[in-house]
Amino acid sequence: MITLVFAGNMSAERRAVFERAAAKWDRVMDTSFDPVTVEGETLRGVQIDASITPIDGPEGVLGQAGPSILFGTTGLPVKGIMQFDTADVERLEAQDRFADVILHEMAHVLGFGTLWPRKNLIVGSGSADPRFTGPASAREYALLDPEGGRFVPVANTGGAGTREAHWRELIFGDELLTGFLSGADRPLSRMSIASFEDLGYVVDYTTADPFVLPSFRQLALMGITEAVRVCDLCRMGRTTPVLLEG
Ligand SMILES: [Zn+2]
Repeated sequence: MITLVFAGNMSAERRAVFERAAAKWDRVMDTSFDPVTVEGETLRGVQIDASITPIDGPEGVLGQAGPSILFGTTGLPVKGIMQFDTADVERLEAQDRFADVILHEMAHVLGFGTLWPRKNLIVGSGSADPRFTGPASAREYALLDPEGGRFVPVANTGGAGTREAHWRELIFGDELLTGFLSGADRPLSRMSIASFEDLGYVVDYTTADPFVLPSFRQLALMGITEAVRVCDLCRMGRTTPVLLEG
């Protein structure tokens, strides 16, 4: 189970956004791990320290999210952080995008993109066609796109936290876990859920949203282009997790 620990004076409304995201991911995957003592405290499941504080105003850094402590045995997160800049949160709320950003970033805390290199799940790193090699994801991708090749295409543009840490935007469009928040619905596909199985979680595929690959026309209608556009998610920093012994 995901447990949130809120720092500072976060409003009940904002806490509820984090709580709903945690409840969603708790339905998708099982994090009822054995209790473990970390830095003097006993943790059950995954603990996420969440905060919203002024960082640098509406431009610049959006925040930071990722796992901070991993189990030595499974390499899965036992603890992570989600920090956001107050000014950016206010803007995201005004744009009705805050909840999806929280849902998306919590996926990174749970390992999406952030634990892929560590678990050797990327081939073609640095090339124009990097792919995610997890077998469950490959199976689901083949159902979406029978002619797309053996492995799942991942982001081949963007900075360090974006490239090779998301599904590829020009193929998967408004799916929740591409590198850009596009479209309006942002479905969570079976393929995304499969990627957590590939990381080592027990997952529940019945929690997936309906998803098919968008056409080029649909991508264009979502406003997706290769050209410059708002990339909030590119402005998230990433953690360097510590591995527990034993
Ligand atoms: Zn992301």
